[in-house]
Amino acid sequence: MNAIILIVEDEARLAEILEDYLRREGFRTERAKDGGRALELWRAANPDLILLDIMLPVLDGLEVARRVRSESEVPIIMLTARDDEVDKLVGLGLGADDYVVKPYSPREVVARVKAVLRRSRGHLLGAEVYRAGGLEIDLGAFEARCDGQLLDLTTSELRLLGLLAKEPNRVRQRAELLAVTGDAESFADERTVDAHIKNIRRKLGDCGERIETVRGVGYKLRDSG
Ligand code: CA
Repeated sequence: MNAIILIVEDEARLAEILEDYLRREGFRTERAKDGGRALELWRAANPDLILLDIMLPVLDGLEVARRVRSESEVPIIMLTARDDEVDKLVGLGLGADDYVVKPYSPREVVARVKAVLRRSRGHLLGAEVYRAGGLEIDLGAFEARCDGQLLDLTTSELRLLGLLAKEPNRVRQRAELLAVTGDAESFADERTVDAHIKNIRRKLGDCGERIETVRGVGYKLRDSG
């Protein structure tokens, strides 16, 4: 369920930082440090999005983009070294979905990844929107609002909240909630869910009280009262 992001970057440190930020937001990642490996991983891992550096050993990013685009519509975000390259790249008609100029902030890259996935998923899946009182969760757009105000939630938090909101008043066990966050494969245990809930309640402000703890079981979202 978690989107897989293929990071193609020959500078190990940059790739590690991106990987770190993306994983913290609940994405799964694969890494390639040259263009040949990028094509192999693209076929093997079937990523939901490719972050593609241009200057790469073996095959450069332009050639990788061309080859991927000849067979696939997978979203591509190009990482370019210089501002003035972007016009040239757009002119080449590589079919990239977005461009980020180095040096970038990893946060900005994550925001672009989400935006591009939102667009590409938006027309694939249509919107799934859940409401409970003033709380609105749009899983298509990966956004949540309380009384119309956009909330700053991570992907894991949105998934967790989305599961609760899908069937309001139904109690969800911690294990179910953990599975949906995408943390299950790392060192997470069910206390991770409690930590997420605590953060969600805080971020939700007035809407946070809709999340009820059911002792010894898990959590539910109240849709009335
Ligand atoms: Ca490079």
